[in-house]
Amino acid sequence: MNDIPRLKPLDSAVVPRFSAIATFMRTPAVEITPTLDVALVGVPFDLGTTFRAGSRHGPAQIREMSRLIRQVNPTNGIAPFRICNVGDVGDAPVNPLDLMGSIDSITAFFERIHAAGAAPISAGGDHTVTYPILRGIAKDGPIGLIHFDAHADTLDELLGNRVNHATPFRRAVEENLIDPKRVVQIGLRGTRYGDDDIRYGQDVGMRVITMDDYEAMGRAKVIDEIRRVVGDRPAYVTFDIDGLDPVFAIGTGVPEPGGLSMRDSQVIIRSLAGMNIVGGDVCEVAPPLDPTGHTALNAANLMFEILCVTADAIQRRKRRT
Ligand code: MN
Ligand code: MN
Repeated sequence: MNDIPRLKPLDSAVVPRFSAIATFMRTPAVEITPTLDVALVGVPFDLGTTFRAGSRHGPAQIREMSRLIRQVNPTNGIAPFRICNVGDVGDAPVNPLDLMGSIDSITAFFERIHAAGAAPISAGGDHTVTYPILRGIAKDGPIGLIHFDAHADTLDELLGNRVNHATPFRRAVEENLIDPKRVVQIGLRGTRYGDDDIRYGQDVGMRVITMDDYEAMGRAKVIDEIRRVVGDRPAYVTFDIDGLDPVFAIGTGVPEPGGLSMRDSQVIIRSLAGMNIVGGDVCEVAPPLDPTGHTALNAANLMFEILCVTADAIQRRKRRT
């Protein structure tokens, strides 16, 4: 399959990083077609935010900072652009004056990506967007979920509203988009509204690894636990940038001290190589809250890590057929 002509990102050793129009990781801007293996997508939507807004600007700044991404993973050696057709399909259509209308238009966009046979890797947007993404791609039954976050995002409602960035994974369980017994949540630590904030996930069978648990278990045991819970069947990776410690990601709406390091996050995602990863997202990057772009730089690198393990899974699936 290495003989197939591939979409190629601009080579930063040939075309300087600061030139040319920004796309995710310098990949070509493409239409959604059946030749695409991985669709890099922006979802510039933050109407589900309840505190500091701004993640609607996430895709633009992550595209800009992703100019720094090169082509080969330094640890697992995966070269995603060599083994898969990877392109930037642009942004999902949204309306900043219409929350539920945007949920439907985002769903429809990801249905098109899924129907074309491509795996989506997205930049949010607030974490609400993972709900319509899952609606768009979980068409063959519920999938597993590897969820990095300071928050569980499994409330029933907030401020009388049931679709916002504090509720996506409860809605996803109710709609049979994810299998709660194949969900791992990592990094939870925010102060809570009450005693039951994270209980829903535990009640329906999610494996909830709070930051305290993470520290007690250590990184290697957490990796073993992810593999045990999620298994070999299809799984999606969702990374709320506030899962990182604010030292690594101050540009986000609801930062919580005492979080994951960037290094640990890279190592954990790299360890997913060999699993059946079907796509992922990085959400909650709010550029107006971090003019340095540091948060978006980390987000771009996390997207690359998710891309590597997704491309690896696609290559293994193709070899089997
Ligand atoms: Mn969060
Ligand atoms: Mn979240």
